[in-house]
Amino acid sequence: MSFLLEIQDLQKVYKNKKALDGVSFSVKEGSCFGLLGPNGAGKSTTMKILTGVLASDGGNISMFGKDALKHRKAILQHIGYVPQDIVLYEKLSAYDNLSFFGKCYGLDGDVLKKRIDDVLKQTGLTDRAKDTVKSYSGGMKRRINIAAALLHNPKLLILDEPTVGIDPQSRNHIFDMIRSLKEQGTTVIYSTHYMEEVEALCDEIAIIDKGEVVTQGTLDYLFTEYGRKAIYMESETSFPTEKLTGIEAVHSHHQGLIIETAAPIDLMEQIIHISKEKKILLHRLEIEKPSLEAVFLSLTGKTLRD
Ligand code: ADP
Repeated sequence: MSFLLEIQDLQKVYKNKKALDGVSFSVKEGSCFGLLGPNGAGKSTTMKILTGVLASDGGNISMFGKDALKHRKAILQHIGYVPQDIVLYEKLSAYDNLSFFGKCYGLDGDVLKKRIDDVLKQTGLTDRAKDTVKSYSGGMKRRINIAAALLHNPKLLILDEPTVGIDPQSRNHIFDMIRSLKEQGTTVIYSTHYMEEVEALCDEIAIIDKGEVVTQGTLDYLFTEYGRKAIYMESETSFPTEKLTGIEAVHSHHQGLIIETAAPIDLMEQIIHISKEKKILLHRLEIEKPSLEAVFLSLTGKTLRD
């Protein structure tokens, strides 16, 4: 499988603030690629540069095998971009909004009508097409915004945090839509700060923090390379962790503790033994599942929600 997009050492400075400090990653053709990072990490800035909204201050971008900066106009015809902010005319119907955006892409007549019908079906909003956008929920507006970016049948769809503040039904629609676009061969770049979305949708992920990509790979690769081995425990009264051997770190988590160790089963045996001896009631004791949260913590020393 070849790379559809390769970014090397992308730089961006806003006034005197460095937003991107050497972002590099590559996206395989036909994949769903997740850009995961906390607010302010540089996800939107990267996407705006990819879509020509912003100029970069350094670095190289190759898209569809071409230098994206030299062939910007030709390349942009194959990109659909869904920005974080919804860009729709509230007083117009969804259909008229799509007609307007379709004409901006140079579509007209029967071709435009067919594409509007197609994208309305893809977003599950055919029944509401004639209603004004102002009567839509936030999630429906977001879906029409995505529909607008699909009108010209792009080979690459770039979505900037498309599920922020929307209802679960619209979120599921967006997920289904992305899965079916991928089946049809569209490459998708999806930015989010929700790990569960990346886990549900993406083939490969770049974790971005403070304007740098800290790692890139499949979920399996990230879990194997950076996932910690740990157990989670909750007890009625405080547990004497100082009596445990072979532990690497202890973190408070919800009502309990996450204890990192190279030998989780051995640690669980010790905990059961001590809890019996000290008559400490255990509420929960389990091996922690691998998670992106843990990968992020191990790479950056903080949680994604910090
Ligand atoms: P993300 O999308 O991951 O939340 P952004 O790319 O929006 O991150 O922002 C990266 C950094 O650049 C942040 O520190 C943000 O405050 C800063 N930034 C973004 N846009 C501007 C701007 N127009 N002017 C100044 N600073 C900005």
